[in-house]
Amino acid sequence: MDKVFVTRRIPQAGVDILEKYFKVEVNGEERNLSKDEIIENIKDTFGIVTMVSDKIDKEVMDSAENLKIIANYGVGINNVDIDYATRKKILFTNTPGVLTQATAELAWGLIMAVARNIVQADKFTRSGEFTGFSPTLMLGKEFYSSTIGIIGMGRIGSSIARMARYGFNMNVLYYNRSKSEKELVVDAKRVQLDELLSVSDIVVVSAPLNSESKHLINKEKFELMKNDALFINVARGEVVDTDDLIYALENNIIGGAGLDVYENEPDFDTRLAGFKNCTLLPHIGSATVETREKMSKIVANNIVSVYKGRCPDYTVNGGDLCPAKN
Ligand code: NAP
Repeated sequence: MDKVFVTRRIPQAGVDILEKYFKVEVNGEERNLSKDEIIENIKDTFGIVTMVSDKIDKEVMDSAENLKIIANYGVGINNVDIDYATRKKILFTNTPGVLTQATAELAWGLIMAVARNIVQADKFTRSGEFTGFSPTLMLGKEFYSSTIGIIGMGRIGSSIARMARYGFNMNVLYYNRSKSEKELVVDAKRVQLDELLSVSDIVVVSAPLNSESKHLINKEKFELMKNDALFINVARGEVVDTDDLIYALENNIIGGAGLDVYENEPDFDTRLAGFKNCTLLPHIGSATVETREKMSKIVANNIVSVYKGRCPDYTVNGGDLCPAKN
């Protein structure tokens, strides 16, 4: 029986699908594996289920002679050397769409948490400091009818925009490299990045990490923002220069930040923890029971499709690589 290796425990639904066709080995430890550990485990595998935190480079792929598919458990694709996978005829798949709503909802959770000091207020209440209603306690910021700027108006960005437009009557601006077909649906206007940053009350990053987005938001860009604007990142840490974000928070250049992702995860710049106006989450954008189950089934079905000689539903490098185009 061919083998599939899964680098982290995923919902059982996907493992059940895989076990009908493969010997399945799952890393049972609640930690990410090192590159060497991944290499050790995939020597004779047909497929691997990888997390977006697993760096799958040339060395890793070369260590697995029989590898036919890398099934990423996430929509982001920046953790895999796609060109090299294609050269080696290894299919690379991801899980777009099913995590859109969960990630967009989390973005709104971050916006509300930062705007209304929710994390600080919770700590305050638990610690027994609450002594009754106070007219000046933890005053936050309202966003009804204000302006939101979405950087990356794709599936997730447009879902955040829809909630902004129709839930909070917000004016929606966006920045994409090309015009988004979603702009009419969510009544949004495409503008240049600098304009978006200058006029938005909330700025949300929902663009993938690629060659054009690395450190797209830096000191110069933060300096364009309103000094009470909130900055939210639910995409990838590397889209933002962390030193420059810290500079912006230290110097009150922006009003606050909400982050779900960090540069060089799992590293985390502990200076961020020093800001009360900053809410920090451990990369949980897609972390709902419903979404994670769907992702689990998709990665499994992607691998089974390749095993059966079919093109998986979600290929990143499908093109000519698909065993059979369908
Ligand atoms: P998507 O549908 O492909 O949308 C991405 C959007 O970003 C597109 O509209 C694209 O438009 C735009 N874009 C791409 N490169 C850009 C650049 N350099 N500058 C400005 N805009 C750019 O992707 P999605 O499903 O919404 O996911 C977006 C990203 O969210 C993923 O790649 C992943 O990194 C991240 N994510 C994070 C979590 C989490 O747990 N926090 C969960 C899911 C996804 P153009 O091509 O026209 O520029």
